[in-house]
Amino acid sequence: MAFVILDACKDEKAGECVQICPVDCIEKGPDQFFIDPNLCIECGACVAACPVNAIVDEHDLAPEQEVQLEKAEAFFG
Ligand code: SF4
Ligand code: SF4
Repeated sequence: MAFVILDACKDEKAGECVQICPVDCIEKGPDQFFIDPNLCIECGACVAACPVNAIVDEHDLAPEQEVQLEKAEAFFG
């Protein structure tokens, strides 16, 4: 279980969430940032740091947003 970054993050360069994560599990991908679902401790600290509200709990993903979790899993392999 993890928090997931939605595509509202696309082309974001600032990465405010990266600075705030206590377990350092957010990395910059080719066109957006991703949370490593195997390392995220679900503390929720990154949610408030995101200026575009792109970070949500995996449990709150809409069906069409679940692809974002799959992309994160693929990114961290
Ligand atoms: S703070 Fe939000 S928009 Fe910025 S990199 Fe993190 S998820 Fe993307
Ligand atoms: S919920 Fe916590 S552990 Fe997970 S990515 Fe956000 S800040 Fe990091």
